Amino acid sequence: MRGLSEIETVGVVGAGTMGNGIAQVAATAGYDVVMRDIEQEFVDDGFDAIESSLSRLDGKDALDEDPEGIVDRITGTTDLDDLADADLVVEAALEDMDVKRDVFADLDSITDDDVVLATNTSTLSITTIASATDREDLVVGLHFMNPVPVMKGVEVVTGEKTGDDAAEFAHAFAEDLGKETWESDDKPGFVTNRVLMPWINEGIRAYDEGVATKEDMDKGMKLGTNVPMGPLELADHIGLDICLDASRTLHEELGDRYKPAYLLKRKVDAGDLGKKTGKGFYEYE
Ligand code: NAD
Repeated sequence: MRGLSEIETVGVVGAGTMGNGIAQVAATAGYDVVMRDIEQEFVDDGFDAIESSLSRLDGKDALDEDPEGIVDRITGTTDLDDLADADLVVEAALEDMDVKRDVFADLDSITDDDVVLATNTSTLSITTIASATDREDLVVGLHFMNPVPVMKGVEVVTGEKTGDDAAEFAHAFAEDLGKETWESDDKPGFVTNRVLMPWINEGIRAYDEGVATKEDMDKGMKLGTNVPMGPLELADHIGLDICLDASRTLHEELGDRYKPAYLLKRKVDAGDLGKKTGKGFYEYE
């Protein structure tokens, strides 16, 4: 297995909310990054998000170099073959098992066989994703939090066949990006989403049942329980489609107490996915 000192180029699959954040923090830490999405438009959007995030951080004197130097270390592509020379790949494509298994099977065939393949999945089984490859010992969950450049925590998730070396490497890589880590076994939702998703769904259900206005629902939870965002705001921030996919996985694996709220499904069907589409429970510029 390739050790941390041998990592020069990090491949990132997906240039969306999480992928562009992961590309940004890896480039900020000095790695060369190849960021891949399926359409050039999504790659360009990823770069726009990185540039505005870096310029905010630069305004707060939080960077050790000019944003341009960091952006120059990132190459965008729509061709997965451009990840062939990566020393590590972090996948942050859609929360869909078929998509992830296809991506991992492709990565397995194009990258060197001592390269760790990590997934940023929120809820899907690392073991099932890994079984699409011939290197199950080198597949690990590297679950970054949103927004990646701001959030300190990374959850390392070990599948049934993840080797100790790969798990240790995942902790070390995340720490090299300035993050703090904890470890979760490969059980649905891991530590964070297993506890978070029922909380979000209960907030949505309570709002839908008229317990309070959306503003009061969020205000009550913020001021009443000392969390930085209420459930509806946080759902918009994560993306309602991502919340629904995560809730569906938990529901399927863990039963009725994880059933997604009806209003969450209705909003996703209507295309109101939260901040990323300009409208979820709230409206955004
Ligand atoms: P997103 O919808 O913002 O971005 C996903 C991107 O993946 C899109 O740009 C899409 O075009 C691209 N994509 C789809 N198929 C692809 C493929 N085969 N190859 C390359 N790119 C592909 O989603 P996101 O919020 O960035 O979530 C990505 C992953 O991270 C999911 O597994 C999600 O569960 C997980 N995650 C999300 C959050 C969050 O708060 N949004 C937090 C932690 C983990």
